[in-house]
Amino acid sequence: MNNDFEPPALSDTDVLALSVIWEHRRQSKADGIKILLLPFAPCPTCGEIVDEVIIGSQNLATLRQLVTMQPCGHVQTVSDSTLLRLQKHMGEMLADLEDANLRGRGASVEAILREARARTTPDNPEASRNTPDNPPGSTREQLPNDILELLAHRTYLSTACETARLLDGAIIRNPERGDLPGWRDRMHARCRLSQKFTGSACSCHCHKAPAP
Ligand SMILES: [Zn+2]
Ligand SMILES: [Zn+2]
Ligand SMILES: [Zn+2]
Repeated sequence: MNNDFEPPALSDTDVLALSVIWEHRRQSKADGIKILLLPFAPCPTCGEIVDEVIIGSQNLATLRQLVTMQPCGHVQTVSDSTLLRLQKHMGEMLADLEDANLRGRGASVEAILREARARTTPDNPEASRNTPDNPPGSTREQLPNDILELLAHRTYLSTACETARLLDGAIIRNPERGDLPGWRDRMHARCRLSQKFTGSACSCHCHKAPAP
């Protein structure tokens, strides 16, 4: 590169929050929602309101993309490896957002930033969720047994599998959307199999062995 100005890289927190907001807006637009889109977080450089984010094409030498905030015009970069590393957090946060939306609780940008910060801050237990020491089915965060015995048991369906089932409905209503079955399968695959705090197994049919 003969360009000596290399814009600074966005922090993990900013990349995660931006990816979640970006994807949520894209999905909302795809669902026909044109007003009350989730707003972007303020510009990380100057703190000004951001109306639009322009993502440039990837630089094939550095595997970085330029991210330009509008209207202030501040440019930062995001790398492929950062996006890959944060992909799982992004999927989980989007599933949680979807869940909140379905329950009529809109998400705030502040809450998304807070969660993004929690998930990307080292030494924060939230940041290591679903890393190898807490794989799907892990009991690490489970409540003590004497407390579990006090809980009324009901069938548990994970957020991921619940969302996958909602996608089944969307697939029937939108047969032209060939991308939906892939999203549904990804949601089923993302299920962590048991409720994090109670250990109840997810009751979704996708975990049952196929009938002989
Ligand atoms: Zn700015
Ligand atoms: Zn499932
Ligand atoms: Zn499940």
